[in-house]
Amino acid sequence: MSNTNEKKYVYFFGGKKAEGEATMKNLLGGKGANLAEMVNIGLPVPAGFTITTEVCTAYYANNKNYPQELNAQVMDALKRTEAEMGMIFGDKDNPLLVSVRSGARSSMPGMMETVLNVGLNNQTREGLIKKTNNPRFVYDSQRRLIQMYADVVMEKAAGLEPEEGKGVRQQLEHELQKMKDAHGCKSDTDLTAENLKDLIEIYKVKVKEVIGKPFPEDAMEQLWGAVSAVFQSWNGKRAISYRRFEGIPEEWGTAVNVQSMVFGNMGDTSATGVAFTRNPATGDNYFYGEWLANAQGEDVVAGIRTPNPINEIGKDEHTRHLHSLETAMPVVYQELNKYQQLLEKHYHNMLDIEFTIQDQKLYMLQCRVGKRNGPAAVRMALDMLKEGLITKEEAVLRVEPHQLDELLHPIIDPAAEKKLKPFAKGLPAGPGGAAGQIVFNSEDAVEWAKKGKLVILAREETNPEDIEGMRAATAILTARGGMTSHAALVARGWGKCCIVGAGTLKINASAKTITYDGGVFNEGDWVTLNGSKGYIYKGELPMIKAAEENPDFQSFMNLCDSVRTMKIRTNADSPEDAKKARAFGAEGIGLFRTEHMFYGLNSEKPLFLLRKMIASNTVEERRAALAELFPYAKANVKATLEAMDGLPVTFRTLDPPLHEFVPNNPEERSKLAKSLNVSATEFNHRADALHENNPMMGHRGVRLGITYPEITEMQVRAIFEASAELIKDKKNPLPEIMIPVTCAASELKDQYQIVDRVYNEVLAKFGIKEIKHLVGTMIEIPRAALTADKIAEYAQFFSFGTNDLTQMGFGFSRDDIGSFLPEYLEKKILPVDPFNVLDQEGIGQLIEIAVKKGRATRKDIHIGICGEHGGEPSSVEFCHRLGFTYVSCSPFRVPIARLAAAQAVARAK
Ligand code: PEP
Ligand code: MG
Repeated sequence: MSNTNEKKYVYFFGGKKAEGEATMKNLLGGKGANLAEMVNIGLPVPAGFTITTEVCTAYYANNKNYPQELNAQVMDALKRTEAEMGMIFGDKDNPLLVSVRSGARSSMPGMMETVLNVGLNNQTREGLIKKTNNPRFVYDSQRRLIQMYADVVMEKAAGLEPEEGKGVRQQLEHELQKMKDAHGCKSDTDLTAENLKDLIEIYKVKVKEVIGKPFPEDAMEQLWGAVSAVFQSWNGKRAISYRRFEGIPEEWGTAVNVQSMVFGNMGDTSATGVAFTRNPATGDNYFYGEWLANAQGEDVVAGIRTPNPINEIGKDEHTRHLHSLETAMPVVYQELNKYQQLLEKHYHNMLDIEFTIQDQKLYMLQCRVGKRNGPAAVRMALDMLKEGLITKEEAVLRVEPHQLDELLHPIIDPAAEKKLKPFAKGLPAGPGGAAGQIVFNSEDAVEWAKKGKLVILAREETNPEDIEGMRAATAILTARGGMTSHAALVARGWGKCCIVGAGTLKINASAKTITYDGGVFNEGDWVTLNGSKGYIYKGELPMIKAAEENPDFQSFMNLCDSVRTMKIRTNADSPEDAKKARAFGAEGIGLFRTEHMFYGLNSEKPLFLLRKMIASNTVEERRAALAELFPYAKANVKATLEAMDGLPVTFRTLDPPLHEFVPNNPEERSKLAKSLNVSATEFNHRADALHENNPMMGHRGVRLGITYPEITEMQVRAIFEASAELIKDKKNPLPEIMIPVTCAASELKDQYQIVDRVYNEVLAKFGIKEIKHLVGTMIEIPRAALTADKIAEYAQFFSFGTNDLTQMGFGFSRDDIGSFLPEYLEKKILPVDPFNVLDQEGIGQLIEIAVKKGRATRKDIHIGICGEHGGEPSSVEFCHRLGFTYVSCSPFRVPIARLAAAQAVARAK
């Protein structure tokens, strides 16, 4: 017995009670914690034990050595497992076999290694043959062990990197094929017991030849080899890539689960399968899954055989002819159905279940919260709320902010699609449509995508090693595999268009061709996929953005709105953008960059006038140019206020350095010179004088308003007159005037005098008593944050310009970051791009100080954010915690911000 004071590294599960439970995910990994939980709620789980994630961490910290206590604890747990199962590991008469699997805190489908049938050798197999009376099954299990073990433990974990096609797995596959050819067998199942027995010896010779070491016969050596290989696979290439994409920290480590083997490949009364308590692709509420008779679990998820639907309701036009478990083994199916219902009630969530049927007896091998795409996540959250399974707060937490994008997924233009016939069909594994050029391997997918091409990664079967290419591709197409294959799971997790099991296609990776009944496709040819139906078309079809009008999406957004407390505004710079943003649910405009009326559509005339104003040399010249500009500015403001009637609109006074607007084109320059009545030389002289060495910190923002007060005056007059006219029309304009790039309270004092004077002039001119409005400032310079108490004496609101605040807080030029930030991220000098995700540790402190000081002066000061961070979920949550009035972000991110703000409330509960 191990000493009771020592650290516990191994947790037993089995029988009626496990040592762990579902809440212990950090220590036991997701799989281990859920195995324990299933035992605790009375489900039939083959006994075993979990080696904790702490062992993984210690293993890597200690030069790949295990803690001293581990061996004794494993031996203890193995004894309990043997007692529970009534079998003995390594025993020649009554042998127990185990599986050895990874299990990180959050699921990483197919990214780490597994070894099955551990404990089988030429001695133990005899005992197993006697017990099962099924030599063929036993030999088959042994040859599978050798194949898997040689690949995972002896080659990959040992760091051997054979050339493409020379790996031990492929070489053993080749021996298997040779054996099949020699005996005229079509499939693996046609091989006899004797064939397989011979194959085992051939395998052993081949392993020795390829690896240079014999396959270990000793059961205990096999066990430790497999455990180490799983720990090693935490730092395997694909696991590292996956972690990077999914933001899973390296320090988490994986647990290892050692579990008694049960066999789904003991003949036709045995089977294995993977299922979901609801359809993970649509969210529809029915038991959904796939199974294979006479197979091991890996056969389903590896996508080598295309599996059957689990029940009748799950059949579709592609699978109608196949046998469901519901009809093939009705009693077992009913038992499984009962367990899946129990599990969903227990976990209050959609679960992904793995099971095995050994000679009509059902075993549950795994359950975990199931991955789902965006549309399915939204549907399930709404349904489960209606069913009373979850609360409102839980429902909003069920959808990842980035998943909302998938509801706005592009699809093939239905009109164009109707006119065409697909040339092939497969399983609809990932929704939406995608058109792209075919590539045949992961590296090419990455290369081509880098060059800006849209690519579709075509593979014969799904292979987790393709993770980088799958990420880079717009869509994924495979000839084999099912809906629960790795490619399907991964693509769905990413909301990527994906079709698997398109069986009529011959995808030849080395020849780089897809052959189908009727022709050939080569690398670079265009195809279009409908991942929601599984249809594949020749050529490039037109795409349309999926409708925001999706009723589920709207209901879900309404749900978010009923939970969140913070307002969501948008950054919009034109009346058109304002309308769009309102449709997305924006509750105001948090940043209207007035200078944007000088870019883009219909900007020619106002831009000309602005340039004229910039090149003016005297106040009179400038005033004359501004007077000409005034009607344009007013019309722009008025249309925006009208589009947002009843909602606040924050107009920012002119911000960018003026030289940005000076034309370089000589023709344009001479036109301007003429209109100003000056010579070309004089004009050029004036333009050159505007040059600055460091314009981001130069003559911009409030500094312009102070040196050229007539600019502020014109802009403010436009805002108030537009508002006055709207009030006369019985409208309800709510303008807010925002002064940018402030660093001192005195700057505001100066500008406010102008605002006050113009306000009173406009009231008098229109004969009205009041225009509801606020005057405030951006906080985007560290000094402004530090002196926010003084600034709040004038400002009725603060809006954090976190783009500039990050720029000036880090001292990183926001325009030049491309030359060093990628390396900073690569070398982990910074965890994320601070211009994307708010740096709460540093810049966050400036914000906290400013909020505190601002409130000390003006208790009810409105506080918002209008930098890019206003649409980034973790930054939104930060703003909520500080009690912001609103966040403001680009129109397409408004739904994400609405969700993130609701999640912030839900998490705080
Ligand atoms: C900011 O600095 O965060 C901001 C919103 O202003 P701009 O990006 O226009 O400088
Ligand atoms: Mg700014």
